[in-house]
Formats: sequence, structure tokens, C-alpha cells
Amino acid sequence: MDFADALDAALAARAETTGELPPGEQLALTLSQVRSVLPTADNLGATQDDRDLYHLIDTVSDGVRSAFPGSRCQAGCSACCHYPVSLFNVAPAEWKAIARHIETTWDRERLLGFVERFWREHGPALFKMRVLGFLVTLPLPIIPRESAIPPACPFLEDDRCAVYPVRPAHCRSFGHFTVHYWWRRTPFIYGCLEQIARLREALARPGQAPLPSLNPFDVKLWGLAPGKGKLLALWTARTWPRRTLERLSGTARGGEAAKAGPPR
Ligand code: SF4
Ligand code: SF4
Repeated sequence: MDFADALDAALAARAETTGELPPGEQLALTLSQVRSVLPTADNLGATQDDRDLYHLIDTVSDGVRSAFPGSRCQAGCSACCHYPVSLFNVAPAEWKAIARHIETTWDRERLLGFVERFWREHGPALFKMRVLGFLVTLPLPIIPRESAIPPACPFLEDDRCAVYPVRPAHCRSFGHFTVHYWWRRTPFIYGCLEQIARLREALARPGQAPLPSLNPFDVKLWGLAPGKGKLLALWTARTWPRRTLERLSGTARGGEAAKAGPPR
């Protein structure tokens, strides 16, 4: 039995005898369990069980929020949808899930409104996005300076995520993990500045559980979803180019009640 198995067994035994574990120990147990099933994960959001990488990331993120009661990441905080999550590389398979979600749940009126707003707000910033997209080529994110940031994520509507059930891995993990780059000696906390400050404060307390590393999840993500990633805005521009507005407004005016569907 290796150390991780021994730790797992000890924590599970303690949970059995005490009924409930303190949040830090619960996080260690969750992590250990997630790590043991991570190699067999084979889908992104399709099964919502231990084979689903999104489910595993969500499970760990929930564990971090419980183990760090001072965490600023709570339902309703959308600051990172303005910056910088929307700038990160989204894998082709992740984008397909978003496009499929829109195709099957939005009607044409809604898609038309979205595409109009996208080209009005993001259209003028697309050149900048393309330059940023070219720079952000590593599977793990490079966080650009705030001054470089064009508008918020196109899917942020009334301060809520319009594609929440199928949001990409970056959106699920931001604010809950550390990332280790080979050129840095120490990992850094992957989150907004406010969340980083809160987590650092908590980590300085004695007995606080460490944060999980995003690296193994990221390796798994790009194994499951190979291909060239793009920023969300660039995927959007490619799937619904400006010329689709004419087609969509024609069908919307014609009162077609069919589901939306991306242009072919
Ligand atoms: S990372 Fe920061 S901005 Fe994003 S949800 Fe957490 S606290 Fe809010
Ligand atoms: S996809 Fe949703 S959660 Fe992710 S950045 Fe966009 S609005 Fe925010």
C-alpha cells in the first residue's frame, strides 16, 4: 500500500468512526478519491459521474470551498467572467459542448439577440482577441495584464453565465487550484487577485489543508480534448460570423420556431 492509499484508508476509517471529518481532512479524502479515478475519466460533462472530468473538477472545487470558508468564490460572483477566464484557451471538444447546448436549448430569437450583441460589443475588439489568442498558446493559461482585456465573456448575460451547465474547465477550476509551471520553483494560486489574497491568508493558518494542483486535471483535459484551443470569443466569431445575422434575422422574422443550431 503506498502513502496515498494509506492516507485514504486512514481518513475513510476516521470518517467511519467519527461520522464527519473536519473540512481540511474531508478535502484530502475527496482529492485522494478523485485522483484514483482521474486516469479513467473519459468524457467532459456527458455522464456526471466519476468518468466525467467536469464532474471531478466540480467535486474538488466544492471541496475547496468547504475547506476554505473564507473563499470568495460563491454563487453570483462573476468578476472572473470579465477577466480573465474568458481569455483562456478552450479546447475544441469543450466548444462543441457549448455549441451543442445552444443548438438544443436556445430558440432562434435568443441566438439572434446573442449574435447581434456579440458583434456589437466584441466585434471591434476581435483583432486584439486574435493577438491575445495567438499569445495564449500554452495548454495552461498565461494571465494577460488587465489593461489588455477586451469586453467580458460573450456568454455573460445579466451577470449570469448563459452556458453554465457546459462551461469550460477553466471556469470550473478558477479560484480553487494551484498551477505549477516547469520554469517556476513554486506553484501559484490560480484565481483572481482577491481570491488569491483570501486563500493565502487561510493557507498561512496552522493545520490548513493545501490547495489541490490543477496540473493533472489539465493534462487529462487536453488528452480528452486534443486540438488547437481558442478563446471563447474567437470560437463564437468562427461559429456565428457576422453574415449569419442576416440569415438569423430572416428566419426569426418569419416566426420560425425551430431550435437555433449553429450555421453550417
Ligand atoms: S475567482 Fe475571483 S472573480 Fe472568480 S468566482 Fe472566485 S472570487 Fe469571484
Ligand atoms: S463561460 Fe460562463 S463562467 Fe465561463 S467566463 Fe463565460 S460567462 Fe463566465
